[in-house]
Amino acid sequence: MKSEQNGLDSGFGFDFAYCPGCGQKMPEGAVTNPLHCDRCGFTLYCNVAAAVCALITKGQKLLATVRRHPPAAGMLDLPGGFVDPDESAEEALARELQEELGVSMTGCRYFAACPNIYPCRGITYRTLDLAFVCQISATDTIRCADDVADIRWIEPAGVDYSLFGLESTRWFVKRFAVGATGGRP
Ligand SMILES: [Zn+2]
Repeated sequence: MKSEQNGLDSGFGFDFAYCPGCGQKMPEGAVTNPLHCDRCGFTLYCNVAAAVCALITKGQKLLATVRRHPPAAGMLDLPGGFVDPDESAEEALARELQEELGVSMTGCRYFAACPNIYPCRGITYRTLDLAFVCQISATDTIRCADDVADIRWIEPAGVDYSLFGLESTRWFVKRFAVGATGGRP
């Protein structure tokens, strides 16, 4: 979807030089959401993608992952990922914890929500990240896979938050450290 620079910019990191509906060249410089073509009426609502992440504790320590891939490869993160079509947030969490850490989720409770920007392979995704406090089957049998290079057990109140590569996870961990729940005001 990344195309010429002179198309309609959705503000979502992808633009269209030509209308996907009728092929007309789009006017230059406009920034609109929804994207709209006056000629054929093509309209595209650029909604956010849903994503989930898990806050998992062992005593006073919080589980952080080390990102294997860009963006922010090598930096800290929370386990999680995008919600697939037809999947609930809880189902996405359980799937991601199985894929990334090889563990079963035995319980979860909603914690907070935070918008995020996630640039990936030329597309900038606008997401709404939902954080849950999760329980897992075992904390001593974690095996890293998929997007996770390694794990760290951190002190949420004492960690250097700049080590977290994504703004939303940085915010979630700070919020978790002070015991506050709820979405970003
Ligand atoms: Zn059109």
